Amino acid sequence: MPEGKIIKALSGFYYVLDGKDTIQCRGRGVFRKNKVTPLVGDYVVYQAENPTDGYVLEINDRKNELVRPPIANVDQAVLVFSAVEPDFSTALLDRFLVLIEDKEIDPVICISKMDLVPDEKQAELEEYVRDYTAIGYPVLVTSSVTSDGIEKLKPYLQDKISVFAGQSGVGKSSLLNAINPDLELKTNDISSHLGRGKHTTRHVELIHIGTGLVADTPGFSSLEFMDIEAERLSYCFPDIYETGENCKFRGCLHDKEPKCAVKEAVEAGEIRPYRYKHYMQFLEEIKERKPRY
Ligand code: GDP
Ligand code: ZN
Repeated sequence: MPEGKIIKALSGFYYVLDGKDTIQCRGRGVFRKNKVTPLVGDYVVYQAENPTDGYVLEINDRKNELVRPPIANVDQAVLVFSAVEPDFSTALLDRFLVLIEDKEIDPVICISKMDLVPDEKQAELEEYVRDYTAIGYPVLVTSSVTSDGIEKLKPYLQDKISVFAGQSGVGKSSLLNAINPDLELKTNDISSHLGRGKHTTRHVELIHIGTGLVADTPGFSSLEFMDIEAERLSYCFPDIYETGENCKFRGCLHDKEPKCAVKEAVEAGEIRPYRYKHYMQFLEEIKERKPRY
């Protein structure tokens, strides 16, 4: 049986990409029985008599699943944070990073609107670029106006399913347009999707960028740590997680425990204080969360 990837879901049809062909399929009733609905991004087994008359038969196991936009098997999130308008915020960036790390999605940090940065802010931003690079994250600085950094972003998108994420107004749509001007029609679609209201549209489509697939709807509407346990949080901070291996106590939360390697590393300047501060803030948030029964 042939297999492919759902790249679009619309009006009960699933568009399955198999090599260079896209086959229009319907779902079989079995999904309803199992309470699984095919999602864009799903790898599926299908059967087709012709390109417009197929059936999705089976959904392969998902690596992850986003609610908004509804996409499965997301490999990568491009976190778009503007340098200014609105100002770059490490607190918000760390929040996005935690949510993405938790879902086993690889982040790429993209600092946008670099053309608007005044000289006196340049050094501060360069320091952030160094900090996050040192943690191991790819960091790109871009401008959709001058096209700076756009070519560097493209290779990251190849052979993967990516979602752009970030606050409203940071320049996600502009970046998507800049990445692929050939997709003019598609990019017009993108802005109309956004315009129609981020909260109502359930339609999502993966657009081709070279050999990569990118969601045409930016992601991550909720920034609450609903499902993350306290023990899991440090895993979502690679710098803290790595150092935490050397803490005296297994399961050290790097809070009040003695002989904590993380706190020592913060003191020694090896972990940036703002990263530890955000870790502690998020830990408090998680602890204050009411237990769910
Ligand atoms: P989105 O809400 O994240 O999709 O953001 P948009 O792409 O709609 O951009 C929001 C506003 O910022 C628009 O007015 C854009 O023209 C502007 N903008 C986006 N990227 C840049 C950039 O790199 N430089 C400058 N100067 N303005 C930008
Ligand atoms: Zn510790």
